[in-house]
Amino acid sequence: MNNVRIIVAGPRGRMGQEAVKLVDRTAHFELAAVIDRKHNGMNLSELEGFQGFDAPIYSDVEECFSHIEADVLIDLTTPEVGMYHTETALKHGIRPVVGTTGFSKEDLDTLERITSEKGLGCIIAPNFAIGAILMMKFSQMASKYFGDVEIIEMHHDRKLDAPSGTAAKTADMISAVREAKVQGHPDEKETLTGARGADVDGMKIHSVRLPGLVAHQQVLFGSDGELLTVRHDSFNRASFMTGVKLAVETVMKLDVLVYGLENIIE
Ligand code: NAP
Repeated sequence: MNNVRIIVAGPRGRMGQEAVKLVDRTAHFELAAVIDRKHNGMNLSELEGFQGFDAPIYSDVEECFSHIEADVLIDLTTPEVGMYHTETALKHGIRPVVGTTGFSKEDLDTLERITSEKGLGCIIAPNFAIGAILMMKFSQMASKYFGDVEIIEMHHDRKLDAPSGTAAKTADMISAVREAKVQGHPDEKETLTGARGADVDGMKIHSVRLPGLVAHQQVLFGSDGELLTVRHDSFNRASFMTGVKLAVETVMKLDVLVYGLENIIE
């Protein structure tokens, strides 16, 4: 495999730092540049904690993609700016691998259209942890037999979006196979708004935000006299990097948008 030249957006972030290290230690990956809104014109190696990581820093995305020859953009920023980065990368023929969560359905539709028009691969993965992908797949499998399901996702208190991309994706995957059903008592009333969580086709999602947590989710299936719990925990951000590596390698062979790593893991 030829070297894959990579631009990382959000390199100082918690995920971005791990992605920079991943690119650095992977023999066939090369860090071509980074996008960082605060250090335009500097070299990454000049920033604290990045000694030895040689890459030019750009704040202007258009400028970065015009000057730097790259194959893949890894975006680990925020949904507002992440969408702009992704569209601009595609415009420049660069394949995006997006870990940034919180993209809307309209964003995904727009990106699907652009990728198929351009015949360019793009992977958007709300969760790069392989264990989390299996948790979603097992939950989808269980929902064929258990119609009553509640999702509890738990994250650190710096997370901007709720519910998590993983919880929304899990609900989507369950909805695809579960017979639509309104759960709980038909006359149920919340005496405190939000007590029953968010509703997706009658199933509930609850978002917990606490310091000390990283990314955790349990999917509860209830039936007569039994409870099945499918649970996954990410204890650090290194847990996501196996999936990032797989996504970068896979996106080079794709000519469409793939949403969710479960679509590239058998
Ligand atoms: P973080 O530590 O807050 O890092 C976010 C990074 O984005 C920072 O470097 C920040 O730079 C940069 N950024 C923010 N606004 C920007 C803007 N307008 N222009 C350019 N850069 C900007 O967050 P994180 O924990 O690394 O998470 C990053 C994203 O990945 C989030 O969307 C999170 O939900 C998602 N995530 C995904 C997975 C997965 O498996 N897919 C796992 C964990 C997290 P400043 O310092 O300048 O603000």
